[in-house]
Amino acid sequence: MYIDSHCHLDFPDFKARFDQVLANMAANQVDLALCISVTLEDFPNVLTLAEQHDQLFATVGVHPDYPDCREPSVAELVALSDHPKILGIGETGLDYFRVQGDPATELEWQRERFRVHIRAARQVRKPLIVHTRAARDDTLRLMREEGAGEAGGVLHCFTEDWETARAALDQGFYISFSGIVTFKNAESLREVARRMPLDRLLIETDSPYLAPVPKRGKTNEPAFVRHVGEFLADLRGLSHDRLAEITTNNFYKLFSGLPPVSNLEYEDEKHDRPLRCQCQHCRGLPDPGAGAGPG
Ligand SMILES: [Zn+2]
Ligand SMILES: [Zn+2]
Repeated sequence: MYIDSHCHLDFPDFKARFDQVLANMAANQVDLALCISVTLEDFPNVLTLAEQHDQLFATVGVHPDYPDCREPSVAELVALSDHPKILGIGETGLDYFRVQGDPATELEWQRERFRVHIRAARQVRKPLIVHTRAARDDTLRLMREEGAGEAGGVLHCFTEDWETARAALDQGFYISFSGIVTFKNAESLREVARRMPLDRLLIETDSPYLAPVPKRGKTNEPAFVRHVGEFLADLRGLSHDRLAEITTNNFYKLFSGLPPVSNLEYEDEKHDRPLRCQCQHCRGLPDPGAGAGPG
């Protein structure tokens, strides 16, 4: 089975054909989709989707591309996330590309909003969904300054370089790839994907945007996450089933705080040492390689 770790199913693109979108998920073994909130104004619609459909879950947060919407407080995010179908905080982060203004002097509101989300996530111990565009240094700096690693999370729709990925991995974060990795001109991103530790890898659609090859030009939808998964499997020399299993397992580890659904050996094919999972759950367990015997 596949999981779409990031989609926007409340957007108007889906209204007229919502049942078809869910049917397409089922037909493609996409068993779960995480519906990402972008404003507090739209949050009730996102939550309703999750409440009405077993296979949909949601997050709460305010996206950095929305300068004029209602600003969230830590207390409000904490209160809204107290719901069994709310798995994470976001999407949040920094976007110096799409929002007008000089980052140094005019976009302090974005950084403050990001800090609020990180504080809320730490408080409720739910992972962060982080968006970053043309702002990688500030994104990583704020994550460090606010202790984002304590909540954990994912850099979603990843398009940055390996150094950025490495810095996020070092803070305990996961990295999620979207259909962009399938695009013809994305060779440098594929290079990052080839190096990604398999125990930190997630996949997403970011629907309705960014439909992967071979669905380019169509409205993206969660069913298409399968194409992202198959593409990455081929890139890494894994079977499609194994890639699906790994990314599904990773999703459960990150978002449920529970042990993985199956007993996968996280042996990274590209490295010769087994990579130990760094999620909150596993960090608390004795290291099987450290000779921690019974007793
Ligand atoms: Zn985003
Ligand atoms: Zn998004």
